[in-house]
Amino acid sequence: MSLASPDIKTDILVAGAGAAGLSAALALAQAGFAVVCVGRLDRRPNGRTVALFEASLRFYKSLGLWAHFRGKTAALEKITMIDATEARLPVPAVTFAAREIGLTAFGENIENSILVDGLAEIAARAPGLDLHEGLLEDLSYEPEIVRATLADGRRVEAKLVIAADGRASLARSKAGIGARNWAYPQVALTALLSHRKPHRHVSTEFHTRWGPCTLVPLRALEGRPNRSSLVWLMSAQDADSRAALEPEALAREIEKQVDSCVGQIEVEGACGFFPMAGMSVDSLFGHRVALIGEAAHVFPPLAAQGLNLSLRDIAALVEAVEDAREAGEDIGGAKALSAYAKARRGDISLRTNGVDILNRSLLSNLFPIDFLRGAGLVAFSVIGPLRRALMREGVLTHRALPRLMQARPPRYARQGRG
Ligand SMILES: Cc1cc2nc3c(=O)[nH]c(=O)nc-3n(C[C@H](O)[C@H](O)[C@H](O)COP(=O)(O)OP(=O)(O)OC[C@H]3O[C@@H](n4cnc5c(N)ncnc54)[C@H](O)[C@@H]3O)c2cc1C
Repeated sequence: MSLASPDIKTDILVAGAGAAGLSAALALAQAGFAVVCVGRLDRRPNGRTVALFEASLRFYKSLGLWAHFRGKTAALEKITMIDATEARLPVPAVTFAAREIGLTAFGENIENSILVDGLAEIAARAPGLDLHEGLLEDLSYEPEIVRATLADGRRVEAKLVIAADGRASLARSKAGIGARNWAYPQVALTALLSHRKPHRHVSTEFHTRWGPCTLVPLRALEGRPNRSSLVWLMSAQDADSRAALEPEALAREIEKQVDSCVGQIEVEGACGFFPMAGMSVDSLFGHRVALIGEAAHVFPPLAAQGLNLSLRDIAALVEAVEDAREAGEDIGGAKALSAYAKARRGDISLRTNGVDILNRSLLSNLFPIDFLRGAGLVAFSVIGPLRRALMREGVLTHRALPRLMQARPPRYARQGRG
């Protein structure tokens, strides 16, 4: 790497411009840091949406970003889980209602492309934030500084790198942080659907032997009042044969899988096929680098946890570097970054292991495991306090939330943002 003077000097370099990288760049710029964000925007239509829960909505509202997405989301007021594994122990359907925990909705579902495009649009004109569409080619972590080279040859110098460059993160590997990868035998089929009957703001999960097949409410469009997104986990073989189907034939397969609960279905546009994988890292930070989002953790999209977890990474990271700055300390130093890692380790390990256990319990057809899973669902359906604790854990977590996710963030509430 050339040591010639850099083209850009900044406080923080965010590697990656997916939902996690853009959200981190915006939050850090609002906190008053000079930020450069480098990444490629993925604009391919792939039928993917994200369900953002209460804490994530608070995060975007406290940064004043949510107004941009109003009218582009659909509220999730209830979640119904239906056992479709044909297990020997019959399990009743369980419904969780947000009002049981004092919320009008668990969260909002939004098309991934609308979220990422919207964040990129805001980032392009955000003060203190310099967004570069492209890739990082090289990084070198030096004692006082990080030097980075972009694919177009420009050089950036930063005090801290945020690795948000996805599961094959260059920023992570250049820092020498190890990762453990594993694969699951499933593929997730994603699609946007129009249908005959309304979803009534209920997300419906059919738990099959290959994982959940979930319909998630989606905003209405003109002439298409009833819409949902689909995340359907299946074997790689079934995914191959469904990828070859005409949209009408695929729609009939989906209708059959979801017991026609929303009536006749039409598939809108292109579908996505995502092989399921898991990843955990040896450390959430290294010398002058902090890992967030899928550069830090990967697991299958059960219970819609991925980006929600990443936004909690970001809110905790902003807090750690703000605290370091206020104390007159190095924002890329080990003290600030270890405080970030300490705040995040438990939550990340709980979600990664929880999703892994839930996924493997569906894949197994051993009677004792079926029995435990079925007994768990029955317990959640009849024991109110247990059900409410699970709901709270899903949308808010039992841990103290970072400042940006508190009900009325002290720093921004007075300015009437949202
Ligand atoms: C089917 C499916 C459904 C999901 N549903 C939900 C849900 O309902 N709720 C939820 O919370 N989560 C959900 N998730 C998870 C969520 O979508 C992901 O957590 C999130 O999109 C990952 O964002 P990310 O920014 O960390 O990574 P990515 O989206 O992978 O972004 C990585 C970025 O890094 C860039 N990059 C890569 N290499 C470089 C480089 N060398 N230099 C610079 N940039 C680089 C890429 O171009 C990209 O911009 C779902 C995931 C799947 C697969």
